[in-house]
Amino acid sequence: MGIVGGGLTGLALADRLHRAGRSVRLFEGRDRLGGRVSTARIGTQWFDLGPSWFWPGQPRMAALVQQLGLEVFAQYAEGAQLFETAQGVVIRDRGFASMQGSLRLRGGMGALVHALAARLPMGCVQTGQVVRSVSADGVLGFAEGDPQAFDQVVLAVPPRVAASLAFTPDIQATVRSALEAVPTWMAGHAKFVAVYDAPFWREDGLSGDASSQLGPLAEIHDASADGGGALFGFLGVPAAMRAGRRDEVISASVAQLTRLFGPHAASPVEVFYTDWAEENLTAVAADRAPLTHHPAYGRPSALVPRQDSRLFFASSELAPEMGGYLEGALAAAEQVAGWVLAAPVG
Ligand SMILES: Cc1cc2nc3c(=O)[nH]c(=O)nc-3n(C[C@H](O)[C@H](O)[C@H](O)COP(=O)(O)OP(=O)(O)OC[C@H]3O[C@@H](n4cnc5c(N)ncnc54)[C@H](O)[C@@H]3O)c2cc1C
Repeated sequence: MGIVGGGLTGLALADRLHRAGRSVRLFEGRDRLGGRVSTARIGTQWFDLGPSWFWPGQPRMAALVQQLGLEVFAQYAEGAQLFETAQGVVIRDRGFASMQGSLRLRGGMGALVHALAARLPMGCVQTGQVVRSVSADGVLGFAEGDPQAFDQVVLAVPPRVAASLAFTPDIQATVRSALEAVPTWMAGHAKFVAVYDAPFWREDGLSGDASSQLGPLAEIHDASADGGGALFGFLGVPAAMRAGRRDEVISASVAQLTRLFGPHAASPVEVFYTDWAEENLTAVAADRAPLTHHPAYGRPSALVPRQDSRLFFASSELAPEMGGYLEGALAAAEQVAGWVLAAPVG
């Protein structure tokens, strides 16, 4: 069994299939596992540059973090929120509802990926292996290195990224258009994190939550970890306007945090900035158009495997429920594992 993609879907699928006795090889194009899960570190502190949260009512995430012995804690949300008008006027105690009740993981979401990967057999996961082509008889072609053949192949990559691979023979037009029609959740977004020596805003009675009509950060939250302080924000600037302007975006974001949280915010000890729209193993050109709402995800009928299928598509966006979220990645892995195990092989 060959799995393409070492995001949460691919890893959870590999884990399920391995535990069901299947021999699994997983190929990840980046030089790290996790995909949209990406956690930066400074010493013992960690900072999520992709997903930060899961939520009560997501049973697969709750069960997995418990099984893996990971520590869950609540998003910090005590204190006043800030709202910045388009004219730069800062108003206290106003703005969007905070993310109160959202759950974070000690070690960040990277801890989940790390723990899941650690229980796979040695050598079954290879990073830095970009798959370029897939043949109907299960041969994967790589950007570098020899092709490899498998009895079954799962493309655990965002549907639009799957559509960009070379298929021989080509996939049916209905399958291609179904893949291309599924927007990748958060792929058009960018996240900025500013790290400080302490969460100084808490002493001012602020939660760290803010929303802004001026930007460049549209929505800001506390991202503190292990004693240090950090604020993160989602960029409100569209992908096309951010492109190639990393330094400008970073300095405008620090300036905005200073307007909102005071002079201490002007001197972060570190900043991190990930523009997911620029990551070609996550986003395609169509993902640069900002999504205005969470799409109604689900598996289009053209992507439901036939009884004799050897090729399967998986990703959070194709999940039977909670599509787009981490919980959806686990739900997709669960569903596709069932299909793979039921399919005739050989
Ligand atoms: C900024 C941001 C914030 C988010 N916040 C949250 C949140 O708070 N809570 C939440 O539940 N969800 C959140 N999400 C969504 C969450 O990250 C995704 O639902 C989840 O990570 C999807 O996992 P996946 O494995 O399906 O896809 P991905 O993580 O995209 O994994 C696909 C993998 O395939 C690899 N790949 C792609 N093409 C190839 C190729 N050709 N060859 C080899 N490998 C390839 C990629 O490198 C990647 O590792 C957020 C996402 C982003 C970007």
